[in-house]
Amino acid sequence: SQSELDYPFKLLEYFNGFRVSKVIFSACELGVFDLLLKSQEPLSAQHVARELGTSVDGMERLLDALVGIEILEVETTDGTAFYSSTDVANLYLAKGSAKSLHDMIIYQSQTIYPLWNNMVDAVREGRNQNEKTFGLPPEDVFQAIYRSEEEMLKFMGLMNSSWVLDGHDIVTAFNLSCFQTIVDLGGCTGALAREMVKAYPSSSVTVFDLPQVVESAQKHFSQENDAIVFQTGDFFSGDVPAADLYVLARIIHDWPEEKCLTLLKKIYNTCRPGGGVLLVEAMLFENRRGPVMAQIFSLNMLVQAEGRERPPSEYTHMLKKTGFQNVQVCRTGKSYDAILAIR
Ligand code: SAM
Repeated sequence: SQSELDYPFKLLEYFNGFRVSKVIFSACELGVFDLLLKSQEPLSAQHVARELGTSVDGMERLLDALVGIEILEVETTDGTAFYSSTDVANLYLAKGSAKSLHDMIIYQSQTIYPLWNNMVDAVREGRNQNEKTFGLPPEDVFQAIYRSEEEMLKFMGLMNSSWVLDGHDIVTAFNLSCFQTIVDLGGCTGALAREMVKAYPSSSVTVFDLPQVVESAQKHFSQENDAIVFQTGDFFSGDVPAADLYVLARIIHDWPEEKCLTLLKKIYNTCRPGGGVLLVEAMLFENRRGPVMAQIFSLNMLVQAEGRERPPSEYTHMLKKTGFQNVQVCRTGKSYDAILAIR
């Protein structure tokens, strides 16, 4: 095969990566996948354009690009192209499907994308770009993330959709059936809590989060579930509820080590002996040479938050420093991994 030096195939594909993302994101925002799923029969570009209120020319180019990246399929009859969805698009890209990643796409397209536009400055300055991107102070990460009701809902949608994919693997990474009362600190919409009570029907989960988040979770994301309750609070400035197991899913990665240690110490002091803490993060390899997804998430933490992605030894170090023992690491092979430690 030709070497990259003869012709930079891989480089050019990488350069194009953001455009490929935007092809999918734009189709998602315009409702292409929902329309194709609903229609049940292949549609022409003209038909799609009419239904979605777009130009025919623009829609035709977008649909063709989606065929090019194998997200859609096409058949030509009497010189007219008719487009239909693939099973993958129906399952993950349409809004209403059980495994929809629609909310993840909306957040990436509308919030992450503008932030990454300032990656050069993030790397130069070594800090988040909330000020340059949104005119908000860099110190209060969640004030920026929750800068409006609409933004808060979009962020919550993003958080919610991850557990559609990884939730079951995460809650079953360890046998947690010995923990009766579980508190999901920063539990957001309760998506992981729902996976917990599904896997451990005799356990009850308290979702603990900031007041405005709990209010929105109950209003927009709640599903009747007797085993889940919500509780408002601030895990830095207040107390955390008593529990057998504390879950910190994508919490540690938001913060610098000092704040993580403060939080873990607070949990340790409230946790009963024999109780535990479950960390859920996209873990780097020990030598930091991958997974690429975790390396890229770490840059995302740089541009948006105060934290970073870490290899298992850094989590183990923090857990042991606060007093936890028996640290066990489980890599799921998907986006997120789990670490369990016992007091
Ligand atoms: N655990 C959820 C998940 O993995 O889907 C959400 C993770 S999100 C990156 C961080 C969560 O921590 C948000 O829901 C946020 O509202 C919450 N949070 C941030 N600061 C907090 C604080 N001081 N007290 C309580 N919750 C907080």
